[in-house]
Amino acid sequence: MTGRANSIIPNSIIIVGGGASGVVLAAHLLKSPNPDLRVTLIERRPHFGQGIAYSTLLSAHVLNVSAAGMSAYADDPGNFWRWLLERGLATPEQAPVYAPRSVYARYLKELPDELEACETGRLRLIREESLSISPSASGVEVALANGTSIVAHLAVLATGHDEEPGRT
Ligand SMILES: Cc1cc2nc3c(=O)[nH]c(=O)nc-3n(C[C@H](O)[C@H](O)[C@H](O)COP(=O)(O)OP(=O)(O)OC[C@H]3O[C@@H](n4cnc5c(N)ncnc54)[C@H](O)[C@@H]3O)c2cc1C
Repeated sequence: MTGRANSIIPNSIIIVGGGASGVVLAAHLLKSPNPDLRVTLIERRPHFGQGIAYSTLLSAHVLNVSAAGMSAYADDPGNFWRWLLERGLATPEQAPVYAPRSVYARYLKELPDELEACETGRLRLIREESLSISPSASGVEVALANGTSIVAHLAVLATGHDEEPGRT
């Protein structure tokens, strides 16, 4: 996490990278009781929650951990398993289930939606590449490839694995 240390409560947080870590962090932050907390999630891929691991469309590419161990929430370990059951994507008799990674990507993508944070303006999703982060008067400034920039109190780098240039 990067940002200028000051006495301001960090109400605005930018997360650079909308893979699994970025999406799960956003979901956790938005569960905060602080009604003023705002999160901006920046992802250069077309879809949030995929990253390298969960962008595969092949159903044979399954998670290496059973669904019971893949919840996004440590305080709700059955969250992903219930999500599968509710959608008819698994039955209780099938446990343990090693779900396709593409299905897990759907689960991750839906996490912010479930919090209704987009509608209330607490979550902003930006599909763009982040080029740089620099200190600003209020904290940090993130420059985007489209020539615009965003300021916030704090920024989190969740850019994950190195990728080949040009890979989407
Ligand atoms: C093939 C494979 C299979 C895996 N299978 C499993 C599994 O079954 N179970 C498990 O628990 N873990 C698995 N993992 C580990 C998995 O990678 C991590 O659990 C998790 O996906 C890492 O998430 P991340 O958000 O840290 O990184 P990533 O998923 O790499 O996400 C980083 C995101 O940041 C974005 N980004 C990077 N730079 C910028 C920028 N400058 N501007 C905007 N966006 C940017 C990228 O586009 C990407 O979407 C697997 C990993 C791989 C490679």
